[in-house]
Amino acid sequence: MTERTFSIIKPDATKRNLTGKINAVIEDAGLRIVAQRRIKMTQDQAKKFYEVHAERPFYGELVETMISAPVVVQVLEGDNAMARYREVMGATNPEQAAEGTIRKLFALNVGENSVHGSDSVENAAIEIAQFFKDEDIVG
Ligand code: ADP
Ligand code: MG
Repeated sequence: MTERTFSIIKPDATKRNLTGKINAVIEDAGLRIVAQRRIKMTQDQAKKFYEVHAERPFYGELVETMISAPVVVQVLEGDNAMARYREVMGATNPEQAAEGTIRKLFALNVGENSVHGSDSVENAAIEIAQFFKDEDIVG
């Protein structure tokens, strides 16, 4: 079923000029980038975005990392886009990520792991609404 998911190209990747290379992996996997914007996240945006991890020991570091440089927020569309993109991203820890995945190819470590992807279709809708208006998504 055609669905949408939310993606972020994280600061470690934008800093190394990897936006195009990551987008090529996304597109080669059959996912369509139907909205995309480069922004500098505010601390409030990053805190809210990662609220579910507020009690985790790495939360502060995660928020600081996400605001350390620009990010590229994206909406991806395709068949089972949420699960497909999780597959394309690879495991959270790049040491465990499969060959050919974005995190295997580009991530530096478990914290600086180059991309975010929604973990459920429900969360995808919530995350998309945090950064995009409906009319800015052109499928
Ligand atoms: P994913 O991004 O694969 O969905 P999580 O939702 O579990 O992973 O974690 C959110 C983000 O928090 C990760 O992508 C990573 O940037 C960071 N993170 C997760 N686990 C750790 C950890 N053990 N140490 C530092 N940062 C972490
Ligand atoms: Mg997650």
